[in-house]
Amino acid sequence: MLNRRQFFFVAGSTAAFSRIPRVFGAAPKYDLLIRGGHVIDPARKINATEDVAIANGKIAAVQANIAGDAAETIDARGKLVVPGLIDIHTHAGRMPEGPKLILGDGVTGFIDAGSQGADRINEVVNVVKNAPQPGRILINIGRAGILPEGDTMDINRADVGVARQAIMRNRDIIAGVKARLSRDVAGMNDYEVLRRAQEVATSFNLPVMIHMGQTISPLSKLFPLLKRGDVVTHMFAPPPNSIIDDNSRILPEVLAARRRGVWFDVGNGQTGHMRWDTIDSIMKTGFWPDTFSTDWNSNSRTTGVIDLPNCMSKLLGLGMPVPAAIAAATVNAARTFEVFRDRGTLNVGAPADVAVLELRDGNFEFLDNYGNKRAGNQRFFPSGTVLGGKRIARA
Ligand SMILES: [Zn+2]
Repeated sequence: MLNRRQFFFVAGSTAAFSRIPRVFGAAPKYDLLIRGGHVIDPARKINATEDVAIANGKIAAVQANIAGDAAETIDARGKLVVPGLIDIHTHAGRMPEGPKLILGDGVTGFIDAGSQGADRINEVVNVVKNAPQPGRILINIGRAGILPEGDTMDINRADVGVARQAIMRNRDIIAGVKARLSRDVAGMNDYEVLRRAQEVATSFNLPVMIHMGQTISPLSKLFPLLKRGDVVTHMFAPPPNSIIDDNSRILPEVLAARRRGVWFDVGNGQTGHMRWDTIDSIMKTGFWPDTFSTDWNSNSRTTGVIDLPNCMSKLLGLGMPVPAAIAAATVNAARTFEVFRDRGTLNVGAPADVAVLELRDGNFEFLDNYGNKRAGNQRFFPSGTVLGGKRIARA
């Protein structure tokens, strides 16, 4: 069913696209015009039917009924037109085609979050440097990267010296440090692993992203190590050591972290990171995520992840309004890493990165990481991507 639908959207968006032949050599005013879509740009509080005009790779105008011809037109009637999506926790750098695959989902900016450590960082650097869209890397503090036996179960793998050298060699592409702290990754070393990750990151003025959930140390011990600009991913992870206590209250150390500017990210993933009952309790407190992210891998299409728009749909049934869900994957995500500074918005002059989404009504099933299904009646589907003013064919 899903495949048929996705096929339909691909076919539909192709049919809606038209190229106007150039007559008499007059240059059209715009390179691309996205007509008649419902524009949601949370950065500027736009939520209305408008056209988006693009020239020279930048947003040239956003308003109703834009006059002037364009070399290409996308008919976006009945669809959402939003800033290009930014996914701050993926593993797209693990395979050469990763970035291109997520680009088709509307993801025009991404972070590879800790796929590799210092020993093999060049592999990810090469993929991310060759990606069509802007991407950056968080270096895993474990020098051997993600290991089945646990990245830093042997604390010697959290090697400050080699991590610093790897960053110095790749200052342009490494944007932070990833510390995976679960008991099956760091074991008893969680606190020391985070301390060393901060030692590396602070010497370059970079953020740390922690992978929380099922740690041995309580969050009340770990969170005081987080500084402004750091990111907590897997914020919906169920106990032990969830961000809520047994009485469904957000821990004081978690509230304090948000107050001092630590970001809270979903990190959908596949195992141990989200369970509906924990999500319900956290959402009820009003402690909502700053950002959505997929924790994307090559098998995400066939797991509960599917794509970033699907992950963004999961909280619509829990009271999150559509513009807030869009904000979490655009303007909020753009604030977390410097590379996305001028993105996440359709402001005039911004790079022309645009996601065309379809918000469908129907009966949809959403998965947590424990095989539990949740019914929903709205879901975002990717329908088209524009990167730097160029329309991208869906992979
Ligand atoms: Zn991950």
